[in-house]
Amino acid sequence: MDYSSMTIKELSRGLSNGDFSSLDLTNYFLNKEDDVSAYISKLKKSALEQAKEADERIKSGERGELLGIPMAVKDNIMIKGVKCTSASLALKDYIPPYDATVIKKLKEAGVVFLGKTNLDEFAMGSSTESSYFGVTLNPCDKTRVPGGSSGGSAAAVASGLTVSALGSDTGGSIRQPAAFCGVVGLKPTYGSVSRYGLAAMASSLDQIGVISKNVEDTEIVFKSIFGRDVMDSTSADYSFNDIDVDKSKLKIGIPKEYFVDGMDQAMKEEIEQSIKDLDVDVVEISLPHTKYALSAYYIITSSEVSSNMGKYDGLRYGFSDNSAKDLIDSYFKNRGGGFGKEVKRRIILGTHTLSAGYKDAYYQKALEVRHLIRQDFLDAFKSVDLIITPVSPSFPFKIGEKITDPLEMYLLDIFTVTINLAGLPALSMPCSKVNNLPVGIQIIGKHFEEAKILSAAKQFEKIWK
Ligand code: GLN
Repeated sequence: MDYSSMTIKELSRGLSNGDFSSLDLTNYFLNKEDDVSAYISKLKKSALEQAKEADERIKSGERGELLGIPMAVKDNIMIKGVKCTSASLALKDYIPPYDATVIKKLKEAGVVFLGKTNLDEFAMGSSTESSYFGVTLNPCDKTRVPGGSSGGSAAAVASGLTVSALGSDTGGSIRQPAAFCGVVGLKPTYGSVSRYGLAAMASSLDQIGVISKNVEDTEIVFKSIFGRDVMDSTSADYSFNDIDVDKSKLKIGIPKEYFVDGMDQAMKEEIEQSIKDLDVDVVEISLPHTKYALSAYYIITSSEVSSNMGKYDGLRYGFSDNSAKDLIDSYFKNRGGGFGKEVKRRIILGTHTLSAGYKDAYYQKALEVRHLIRQDFLDAFKSVDLIITPVSPSFPFKIGEKITDPLEMYLLDIFTVTINLAGLPALSMPCSKVNNLPVGIQIIGKHFEEAKILSAAKQFEKIWK
């Protein structure tokens, strides 16, 4: 049986009906050739054990939408006893002694973990090219990048190597690779999903989320991972109220700052047409501080990165260069040798923006801009229910095309970083294709209104299919 084209919903039904077992599914996905290098590691032994356990639970009459369902996990989310590299030499052999809260929840739901997926080193990047383990290929065109940083998760879902995957999103890392690979990605509201057990990049922006084949599956996984967690003080009490939005009553805001001439023209036209096809009430809105978003984002993230990366000194765990003569030399060797170029670039940038004399001019200013950007959205949401924008200004680019020009790479994040700065939830989903390359669209909602986004997206999905 070809399980690779099936959704969680379909697999779950088959498991409940006894059409196949979780062990069948798990074997199938584990043995499927990973021809896009989506995985850093596959977890054969533990996955088979988890599948057997799930089959037992099903046999004893237990039911659950995720019971026995195989999933992949971005390799910056900890699973107890399983290597978690963050795609860095610095953590090449690191084995965490605990489960991330999302993993704990999914284990209880009966999920089988197939493997750990590739990412940009410590989630810093937009192409998965900064991974210590090499680049992942885009299943739609293997000469192109899958996006990033959750490129492995998006490519694994798009090429049928798993039915769903976890990712993390600090400035677009779930939404952009989902758009590049033609799948669905949800970046939940900041605080809705616990970050405990996620290797921190920029803690005030990081959020764990889901990449799946369709909106319904994305919702199923999201519903089993959200909620307050004592281990993450920024996590919030959350209640997901299922709603069925009436499309004819929806008011959609289209921010004029997100349809700029600099973006790919074919992409712009496809998105404009896709919005027209929805036949919904659309109004133009303005988010005037958008032009400052990238600068603020890269200052805030680099500042937080420089602080979060401080613990990787090679003394306690991870990569260690034993040839060091003394402590200072060991810092140079371990941090200089353990991190790749992009991580080092951000540590240096962030150390500068936090240093005495510059902190007020850069970091403090960026925080003020962040506040204004959030306010832009809150003002806009006074008159609209949802906001629709592109996910990326460009189609997936060729491997190697932009990696040597960090600034050009950073500019690609323009439509996604604002959402993280404002802490909002947003879903990325495919709306069309040009020359076989997917076009992604972003649906943004108010804080903690994932239910509204998902309900609308399910209806839009039928139109765009
Ligand atoms: N591309 C963005 C960056 O490099 C986003 C990364 C992310 O969301 N983890 O910062």
